[in-house]
Amino acid sequence: MHELSIATAMLDQLEDELAKRPGARITKVGVKIGELSGVDPEALRFGFEALVKGSHWDPLALEIEYIRRRQKCPRCQHEWTVEHWSTECPECSDMETLTLAGDELQIAFLEVDET
Ligand SMILES: [Zn+2]
Repeated sequence: MHELSIATAMLDQLEDELAKRPGARITKVGVKIGELSGVDPEALRFGFEALVKGSHWDPLALEIEYIRRRQKCPRCQHEWTVEHWSTECPECSDMETLTLAGDELQIAFLEVDET
């Protein structure tokens, strides 16, 4: 499962963070997943919880922010959230528009208990 390897990579990243903060405990991790990333948020949550349960990470909360695809038209400067996968500018019908958001796959924040 693709999402399971992503969850594993996320926990590896958290190990690196913990190594920088001796004695700290990560209680929550927030991730951003764009709709273009190809990651299914529910599958990621499932894989993450399976890895965390019973490990030294338990309990560790996961917060997923799902990011819709946003485009910008360089011709008329219009910005919009894409529906139905069409990237044509709804204002001026230009086909050459830019992707502003939606390809995210990253850790957005950590909540750390320093005590
Ligand atoms: Zn336009």
